[in-house]
Amino acid sequence: MAEPPEPPADDSPETRMARLILALRSQGVSEPKVLQAIETTPREIFTPELFKQRAFEDSALPIACGQTISQPFIVGLMTQALKVDKRDRVLEIGTGSGYQTTILSKLARLVYTVERYRTLMREAEGRFKALGLTNVITRFGDGGEGWPEQAPFDRIMVTAAAPGEPKALLSQLKPTGILVAPIGKGPVQSLRRYTGDGQGGFNVEKLIDVRFVPLLDGVAKEL
Ligand code: SAH
Repeated sequence: MAEPPEPPADDSPETRMARLILALRSQGVSEPKVLQAIETTPREIFTPELFKQRAFEDSALPIACGQTISQPFIVGLMTQALKVDKRDRVLEIGTGSGYQTTILSKLARLVYTVERYRTLMREAEGRFKALGLTNVITRFGDGGEGWPEQAPFDRIMVTAAAPGEPKALLSQLKPTGILVAPIGKGPVQSLRRYTGDGQGGFNVEKLIDVRFVPLLDGVAKEL
């Protein structure tokens, strides 16, 4: 597929953001609260210096430690699918750049976020501080195990691909909670939404095909 043309250099950040929001709307991200959270989050502070020019593009970009900051459309779609309420305590697995965390923090009461790379965790914490976010709680660890001490959660979002049903995480969800996660072992996974039925079971919906980095076991040995 052809790359979209580079926007003219004299485009203001406001124009570029307006264009991005239009692109998300046209792809089905329509929830005003979600669009507003994206619009008020400066994505360029989450990308490496080299990619700041491309921060307003609707594409995933590389970050440190061989990881990626998700495509804005996917961030919007997953956030919308999670149906976050202002009273919710949300668990996010895979802090990465902290971009998705920041969007969630604008919609939820509290966001607990887990990352297995120390470097990414530290950089993301710096961004949360700079943005003045007071409702984000971070943890360096293996997110596959969730955060048992803080469970149960109203909502759980996994931003790395789980090889199969994320049982440990589902067990940390409230009976009528919602979990959104990419599920699959290959390069293309299926984005799924699990909605608790209140009786210990889940309704599972397949949303779209996505490409996420894998959810890996344990913490990273590298920094
Ligand atoms: N939400 C991020 C996307 C980051 S990519 C953003 O908006 O930038 C996925 C992240 O999940 C990576 O940073 C990766 O290190 C992390 N990850 C993978 N397996 C993990 C695990 N078991 N526990 C915690 N984080 C994990």
